[in-house]
Amino acid sequence: MRAGVFLGAATAIAAIPAIALVILLATARVAPGPGLAALAATVLAALGLAAMVARDLHLLAETLRHAALETGTEPSPAAATPRLVPMERVALAIERLARNLAFRAAEVGRLLRANEAIIEALPDPLLVLGEDRQARRTNAAARAAFGADIPAVLRHPGMRAAIDRAFATGTGQTVELSLPVPVAREVHAAVIPMDPPLPDGARAILVLSDRSHERAVERMRSDFIANASHELRTPLASLIGFVDTLLGPAADDPPAQRRFLPIMAEQAARMNRLIDDLLSLSRIELNEHQPPADRVDLAALAAKVVAAFEPAAKARKVTLDLRATEGLPEVIADADQVAQVLQNLIDNALKYGRDGGHVQVGLAQAPSGGRWPARPGVLMTVGDDGPGIAKQHVPRLTERFYRIDAGRSRKAGGTGLGLAIVKHIVNRHRGVLGIESDEGKGAVFSVWLPAGDK
Ligand code: ADP
Repeated sequence: MRAGVFLGAATAIAAIPAIALVILLATARVAPGPGLAALAATVLAALGLAAMVARDLHLLAETLRHAALETGTEPSPAAATPRLVPMERVALAIERLARNLAFRAAEVGRLLRANEAIIEALPDPLLVLGEDRQARRTNAAARAAFGADIPAVLRHPGMRAAIDRAFATGTGQTVELSLPVPVAREVHAAVIPMDPPLPDGARAILVLSDRSHERAVERMRSDFIANASHELRTPLASLIGFVDTLLGPAADDPPAQRRFLPIMAEQAARMNRLIDDLLSLSRIELNEHQPPADRVDLAALAAKVVAAFEPAAKARKVTLDLRATEGLPEVIADADQVAQVLQNLIDNALKYGRDGGHVQVGLAQAPSGGRWPARPGVLMTVGDDGPGIAKQHVPRLTERFYRIDAGRSRKAGGTGLGLAIVKHIVNRHRGVLGIESDEGKGAVFSVWLPAGDK
């Protein structure tokens, strides 16, 4: 290659003067001696110049080849520089161009990496779809949420239809879906078509947002309103019925009036209890994010609460006792709210425990670790020896209006909100509520509360 360039350049340089000298020699216009000397000098000069041209062109070709190979990295300095001045200028220009290109390529690389890092860090799952409607790229949230189920998610009929519409119309599409895999969840999907497709073949972007929590909250809210209205309407309907009877058929019937009025009083008291519980629940929820800061002596507080329940316990022939270990640390708590927790738990133990049974209130230093937090804390327990709670009910007991036996709860004056109130108070205290029950052998409700520094 280099020899070819050399011979070509030598021929191009020497051809015309050599032919002219040969003609002059042939026509005897120059003496053979000087003519041949001039011819030799011409050929030698042409060979020298051709060697320089071939070398410089080779150097330029090498510089260009390196510049093409090294895009994105700083170009390495040329091993040698051309000797001919114009060639040297060209070489310098190539080097400047290569440096410029390398700088731009590095900049583009940095921008690409920054974009990838942003997409990777997005909290919502994001998928980049190719022309075949398959995922070409996914971010960390998508891999964590769907893992190996991404193809199944893309095959969901609702999702497919939205992707097809986006591809066909070139406009963004949104759809609400219930995805069964890998776990059942409600998802909002947005398909954003790329028209024209991106250079890496991306045809659309799919962003998924998990709406399961919002939907559950919406359902809970509407269920709660429906439940609360139902709970209030039942005693209200009964009150209205009795009022109508007292105004009408029983207007002049004193024995009927004496029978109805206590029932009416009980229904009104039930509504009152329900409204009290609803109000305290909403008050507790309102300041649930603000943990209490007071120091409370639980043993003294529990003694007062237990004493107040003595008459109710006696009425059911239940022995109610309090066992507190000596030297318990104070807890960081709101005394009124902790008293309410204890009242609700003892009230339940008396309502759902055994007539003539035993209710035990305990206070002890919490064992650190296991199911309780590793920090120092006090464990408050209320146990009974009643019928207990079947396993399937335990996780739902703290839901509002959840009752195992609604009739029994209402008869005992329950509102169905007692344990919901307990849960919210414990949450506000950054505490832990535990429920254990052996069906037939009673139930133990435990509340872990954080201890203050000694
Ligand atoms: P209620 O006003 O109905 O007592 P709670 O929220 O206090 O509402 O309790 C919810 C349900 O949990 C009760 O209806 C009852 O079925 C069950 N429960 C609560 N405590 C006990 C207990 N100590 N033993 C058995 N069941 C209980």
